[in-house]
Amino acid sequence: MKYKRILLKLSGEALMGENQYGIDPQRLSEYAQEIKKIHALGVEIAIVIGGGNIFRGVAGASKGMDRVQGDYMGMLATVINGMALQGALEDAGMLTRLQTALKIEEIAEPYIKRRAVRHLEKNRIVIFGAGTGNPYFTTDTAAVLRGVEINADVILKGTRVDGVYTADPEKDPNAVKYESITFTDVLAKGLNVMDTTAFTLSQENQLPIVVFDMNKENNLLKVCQGENIGTTVY
Ligand code: UDP
Repeated sequence: MKYKRILLKLSGEALMGENQYGIDPQRLSEYAQEIKKIHALGVEIAIVIGGGNIFRGVAGASKGMDRVQGDYMGMLATVINGMALQGALEDAGMLTRLQTALKIEEIAEPYIKRRAVRHLEKNRIVIFGAGTGNPYFTTDTAAVLRGVEINADVILKGTRVDGVYTADPEKDPNAVKYESITFTDVLAKGLNVMDTTAFTLSQENQLPIVVFDMNKENNLLKVCQGENIGTTVY
């Protein structure tokens, strides 16, 4: 396997499946099966999940809600998704722990780096909920932060696009996919991989990011085996 310890970032929107909002149980169990394939091969897996399928702070603020209030609601949304994913992974036979950046101790452990690492060493899948625990951040930033903290080998950003393109492939038919690209080139070309805070944190800590399509069967496995199916930012 190319990677021993990964930080998998899943967006909240991915969990909607074909629906317009919420959580699609079918999609959840598909993800659990994909994750099981790499777990069985001994990859240590930490996951950060977004909350965009339920609530985004910015969306609330645009309708007059206090931004900080909205952001905390968004963080709670990621905990709901984390619990759903935890259930699906355990249904599929894996051991998991949910750790949250905001304390909700009846349902999750508080985030403690040393404990998280110990869980990983024992082959438990660790899901990090509530983002960074701070408003004005995103779950992409939480993913890179946790990835750096636990010494992950890579951030795997599973999305519905299969990599980083010269232009938005959903708008420009001539857009070409990069197999790999440096952090510096992403910035120079003004490409969008993650928000600036997340991206800079990754660059400063030389933690590579692989952007790939999580919705294709075996893609997560292929990425972990070193097959270049997405785009590696290094
Ligand atoms: N959020 C936050 N701080 C964090 C992570 C998330 O305030 O550290 C809030 C923010 O309002 C964000 C929402 O949680 O809009 C959901 O996260 P995100 O939009 O990153 O989820 P995704 O787009 O990956 O589904």
